[in-house]
Amino acid sequence: MKYWSPATKALAPYIPGEQLQDRQYIKRNTNENPFPPSEAVAQAIHGCAPDTLRLYPDPEARELKEAIAAYYRVKDAQVFVGNGSDEVLGFSFLAFFRNGRPIAFPDISYSFYQVYCDLFGISYQCPPLTDRYEIDVNDYQAGLGGVIFPNPNAPTGVFTPLAEIETLVRRNPEFVVIVDEAYVDFGAESCVSLVGQHPNLLVIQTLSKSRSLAGLRVGFAIGHEDLIAGLNRVKNSFNSYPLDRLAICGAVAAFHDQSYFEECCARIIRNREWLTAELESRSYFVPASRANFLFARHPVVNGETLYSYLKSEGILVRHLAGPRIKDFVRITIGKEHEMQRLVEALDCLGR
Ligand SMILES: *Cc1c(COP(=O)(O)O)cnc(C)c1O
Repeated sequence: MKYWSPATKALAPYIPGEQLQDRQYIKRNTNENPFPPSEAVAQAIHGCAPDTLRLYPDPEARELKEAIAAYYRVKDAQVFVGNGSDEVLGFSFLAFFRNGRPIAFPDISYSFYQVYCDLFGISYQCPPLTDRYEIDVNDYQAGLGGVIFPNPNAPTGVFTPLAEIETLVRRNPEFVVIVDEAYVDFGAESCVSLVGQHPNLLVIQTLSKSRSLAGLRVGFAIGHEDLIAGLNRVKNSFNSYPLDRLAICGAVAAFHDQSYFEECCARIIRNREWLTAELESRSYFVPASRANFLFARHPVVNGETLYSYLKSEGILVRHLAGPRIKDFVRITIGKEHEMQRLVEALDCLGR
C-alpha cells in the first residue's frame, strides 16, 4: 500500500458476486444465463483462424456495430461497443457525467454507479425508490449533471414504463439520461425506440445476460451520433481495441441466431413466472420482475439467514447489504429443475 496514491487508497471497489470453487453449486447469484450460448457463437469462434490473432482487431469493431445497428434499425454511427457494458458505462460516466454537477440514480440500484462516481470524482444523489420499489421520475429535476438507472431496475427487477422515461428525457434536455438495459430482453420494453427523438438519451445493453455471453465481455450503447462520437473520443483516449477478435466474431454470431435467443429468453420468463407464483403462495414478498432474477423477501427470515441456509444446501443466491434491501435475496432464474430444487430447499427451511 506504500506506493498507492491517496486516490487509490480512497477507492471502495465494486464487489462482484461470489465465484466459489469449493463445491458444485446451483449457481444463481450473478444473473448469468443458465443456457449455453448459441451453437452459432461456438462455430464462429472456432472459425476464427488463430493466425489472425497476430493482428490487432478492428478498432471500430465495424462488423459488430453493423449487426447491432441492423438488429435495432439504427445507423451504425449510433452504436458504440465495448468490453462488457461495465466498460461502456465507465466511458459514459467519463464522457457525459464529469461536468461539475451531481448526477442521480436510485437509492436501490446497480452498485457500480457509485463506484464509478468515486473513481471519476463525480458527486451524486440517490432519490429513494417509492414504497413499491418504483422509480418516480419527478424525483429527477433540473440542475443535475445526469441521470442513470437500470430498466428493469437491479436488484429489484421492477420496470419503469417508457412513457415515464420519455417525460424525464424531454423535461431535462440539459443533461444525459442513461438507461442501463442489461435485463431488457426478459420481457421489458427497450428505450432504443426513443433515441431518434431525444439527443440526450443513451441506452446501454450487454450480451452477458440474455445472450449467455458473460465470459466474452461485450456490451454496447445506442444513442444520438453526437453521444456516440463522445464515447469514441473517450475510448480512443484510453484503449483503442477494447474488443478482441474472438469477442467480435462471437458477438456478431449471437445477433444472427434470433430464434435460439428468443427460445432461451422465453424459457427464463416462464421459469420466473413459475417461481414468482411459488414464492408468493408461500407468503414471500416479490416485486413483479421483468428481469432474469427475482428479489424476494421471506415473511420472517432475514436475507442473510436465507442466503446462508441456501448456500449450505448448495444453492448460491445473492444477498446485498443496505437498509432497505438487507431482508431480501436476489435469485437468478435458472433451469426448471434448479428452480424446483430451490423451492424444495426453501420448504425445508427451519425444519
Ligand atoms: C450485469 C450488469 C451490467 C454489466 O454487464 P457486463 O456487460 O457483463 O459488464 C451492467 N448493468 C447492470 C444493471 C447489470 O446487472
